Amino acid sequence: MLKLDILVLSVHPDDAELGCAGTILKHIALGKKVGIVDLTRGELVTRGSAEIRDKEAAASAQILGLAARENLGLPDGFFQNDKEHQLKVIAAIRKYQPQIIITNAYHDRHPDHGRASNLVETSTFLSGLRKIETSVNGELQQPWRPDLLLHFIQDEYIKPDILIDVTDHWDKKIESIHAFGSQFFNPNWENEPQTYISSPEFIQVIEARAREFGKVIQVKYAEGFTSRKILGVDNLFNLL
Ligand SMILES: [Zn+2]
Repeated sequence: MLKLDILVLSVHPDDAELGCAGTILKHIALGKKVGIVDLTRGELVTRGSAEIRDKEAAASAQILGLAARENLGLPDGFFQNDKEHQLKVIAAIRKYQPQIIITNAYHDRHPDHGRASNLVETSTFLSGLRKIETSVNGELQQPWRPDLLLHFIQDEYIKPDILIDVTDHWDKKIESIHAFGSQFFNPNWENEPQTYISSPEFIQVIEARAREFGKVIQVKYAEGFTSRKILGVDNLFNLL
């Protein structure tokens, strides 16, 4: 079994890169094992296809140095926070037994983001209940409750509860985003339909948000997260 320190559970391949690639890279550099489970293949996408996005997600996983990346294949746009989908997410959490889970924003322009956030939040709690049975490859899984669930911040501004300095990992984060050549600004795709996220300005806004968050903690780039749980630290100097 592969046990992860951090599991990112987000709905569309590329959400994790946009929301927290810097934090992923930072913790891998610290020796932590990090993986991504994408909930859907993003098959309702305007540009490209699920097959193209599978390849892009695999390429990005290489760039990030992930210990694992898989796709649950839930229906893009139509998955619900119900028993059927919760059991699949619970099985993924129990499979990797992460200490920390990172998921989508509480609410966002794309309704899948808030719905995925709720689905992961519910499943994270239910995963700890031993009377809910799940299995992987025919083997019964053990209950598992992570210590911490964080939500990254996406299109809509949400005031973060915590900021992580990702300055040293910024260039690699941008590289991982550009692995999704069908989604973001790409001069080779100029004859394809343009979308909300395919303009050069979209990446500039990602950078502007990280610069704004970075300024708050006197670094160049930071990623922001929220937590429903009140966060604690073992000494005040770790808060600097
Ligand atoms: Zn998304």
